[in-house]
Amino acid sequence: MYLQEIDEIFNKQKEYYSTQITKDVNFRINQLDKLKSAIQEYEEKIVEAIKKDFDKCEFEVFETEVGITLSEIKHVRNKIKKWSEPQKVKTPLTNPGAKTYIYKQPYGVCLIMSPWNYPFYLCISPLIGAIIGGNCAVVKPSELSPNTSKIIKEMIEKYFNKEYIAVIEGEVEVNKYLLTKKFDYIFFTGSPAVGKVVMEAAAKELIPCTLELGGKSPCIVDESCDIDMSAKKIVWGKLLNGGQTCIAPDYVIAHHNIKEDLIEAMKKYIKLFYGEEPMKSKDYTSIINERHFNRITGLIDENKVVYGGKNNKESLKIEPTIIDKVTINDKVMNDEIFGPLIPILEFENIDEVVEIVEVNKNPLALYVFTKDKNFEETIISRISFGGGCVNDTIMHISNHNAPFGGIGNSGIGSYHGKRSYDAFTHEKTILKSSSIDIPFKYPPYSKKALQLLKKAFEIL
Ligand code: NAD
Repeated sequence: MYLQEIDEIFNKQKEYYSTQITKDVNFRINQLDKLKSAIQEYEEKIVEAIKKDFDKCEFEVFETEVGITLSEIKHVRNKIKKWSEPQKVKTPLTNPGAKTYIYKQPYGVCLIMSPWNYPFYLCISPLIGAIIGGNCAVVKPSELSPNTSKIIKEMIEKYFNKEYIAVIEGEVEVNKYLLTKKFDYIFFTGSPAVGKVVMEAAAKELIPCTLELGGKSPCIVDESCDIDMSAKKIVWGKLLNGGQTCIAPDYVIAHHNIKEDLIEAMKKYIKLFYGEEPMKSKDYTSIINERHFNRITGLIDENKVVYGGKNNKESLKIEPTIIDKVTINDKVMNDEIFGPLIPILEFENIDEVVEIVEVNKNPLALYVFTKDKNFEETIISRISFGGGCVNDTIMHISNHNAPFGGIGNSGIGSYHGKRSYDAFTHEKTILKSSSIDIPFKYPPYSKKALQLLKKAFEIL
């Protein structure tokens, strides 16, 4: 795409936003209905495109890309009217007779930049936020999932005018150029490294932004847990999308007393889910490209592999690989894995768990498997992380009633459901004054006025 075309789209969106059309609540509802029809029409093409990009199976595409997006549309659709109404809040006696309201104001023209790992969902879910908030949006899908990117562009262009919603494809140079434009809000999903680039660009123009980033999400397995169930849920959460999930359990910290049994149970579930040759399973996703394939295979210490370890460069598949006796100094613990490797570390007391997690501070997710309430609550309160589950993995993302987001290295801000509406709007406080006026607040200030002021602050 020519950079000139980006300028044109950007300017047209600014103009369109200024017509006030996008602020109308019925307009927003209609656009959401259109988006739903578009997704329904394109469902098959989306499945095909994601299969082409990294051999993801239809079930997982529906579960984690199409189905979850449609259910989010359903969740927010009937609530937009209520969310858009000015919300009345209490007014202190310093303003006798006055009323205070919080108005929700769209930001204007928003930029949405997305990663490749959930190439449809992570473009469209933020777009739902932009629409319900009353904004215009430019969506930039990842260049690493070109088939999905193409379909998203085709779908959006069929249903929406570019001056309202536009999809811009292209290499990283395009992202860089987009970041030079004075958008009114930026929603970025991707790595912490690029998150810093985005925030730096946003800072130059003081553009508000939400950053949904990644990190090393720990999975802590206590000796009191149900070993079989824990293994089943860890294996599922880890291998979904070929291990390329921002909230996948990155590594396991298992209690010394149950570690061996947990590993055996995990082997059992890998075989149950994907058979003796997982790389041939129709349900097992490929690695997105050769660069990531080489990066992930380079993290495997063959001497420590207790299950799996093989790979196929042609199909870009890496076997589910359990790596035992891992320490914090192993290569696999340096950075987010983003692939089907399961490093196992062990602990005997909770301080050791905290120490390990603190090395890669503020993970996006944390999972704890335990039947011990005290252990569970201690982990939740002592460790800082984005969000997570007790006795499960991944599923906290599926609740539209709760915020999804990271902290520190794993992100800033949150979204989903009402939080998406909040993310894409500014809260504007409006005080509507009454005819009652307090005379002593005006200069020249007398001593008596000061006394009255002090009294007023004591009372209020
Ligand atoms: P990435 O940061 O490499 O790319 C994300 C987007 O940024 C892409 O659109 C890409 O084109 C663009 N980009 C890349 N380099 C850029 C640069 N120098 N300047 C400007 N833009 C640039 O991330 P990725 O590899 O696509 O995705 C994987 C990462 O995303 C992982 O860290 C993962 O944990 C994270 N992630 C987070 C969430 C979340 O919801 N928090 C969801 C999915 C993925």
